Amino acid sequence: MIALSLGWGVQSFTMAAMSALGELPRVDVAIHADTTHEHDETYKFLCRWGYWLSVRGIEIATVRAPNKLGALDEYGACMIPAHIDGRGMFSRQCTDNWKRLPIRRYLQAHRNGAPVELWIDISTDEALRMKPSDVKYITHRWPLIEKRMSRNDCAAWLKAHNLEVPPKSSCVFCPYHNSAAWREMWKENGADWRKSVEIDNQIRKARPPYDLFVHPARKPLEEIDLRNDVDRGQLSLWDEECEGMCGL
Ligand code: SF4
Repeated sequence: MIALSLGWGVQSFTMAAMSALGELPRVDVAIHADTTHEHDETYKFLCRWGYWLSVRGIEIATVRAPNKLGALDEYGACMIPAHIDGRGMFSRQCTDNWKRLPIRRYLQAHRNGAPVELWIDISTDEALRMKPSDVKYITHRWPLIEKRMSRNDCAAWLKAHNLEVPPKSSCVFCPYHNSAAWREMWKENGADWRKSVEIDNQIRKARPPYDLFVHPARKPLEEIDLRNDVDRGQLSLWDEECEGMCGL
């Protein structure tokens, strides 16, 4: 069984499109582990391009954690790698609970005892994230590494095939966001920003005696000055790029 982990970011959509267009072998299933906290633009993108993949024979399965998917679990414990006041970061429960385990439950239910080759969306610029599977029935494969493709190469490949380049995929409130990602949401001031502020306030007292924050400044999100030099009226010669992601 060949399965692809489809997070709907640039790299995983490139692998899915390559499979659909015959540049990679046909996958049996592309599994989207839906955290339910993706950016609005990602959900719009998957509505547009999920159909495109489906009509080209790519079966898409959407899986979710069976329990409540908030930033706090049912016992009030923080699920996300929040920044701790005066310390480092909280341990990350979200990737396992929201992504890895739902994908594994799906694979166990559908593989009929067969081994699984699971394609992971890592490109050459993220090669340090490559890890072998920790279970016998799954073997990880990294097709973009095999093709020596970076994230920019993926975007170029999509454009060359008249396909849309997806927005970065991650939970809106992910504490791994860089300054550019926070600033972009703050400037848009839309539902994603409001949800991030809500979650930031929600997690604050989840680990007494320490306060928790989604932003590395370890201040309430609404109180942080997220302007860059350009916003302050100064010239900027470089643009920042959003690279952070949690992966599998
Ligand atoms: S994107 Fe961030 S918050 Fe969401 S599952 Fe990954 S590490 Fe957790």
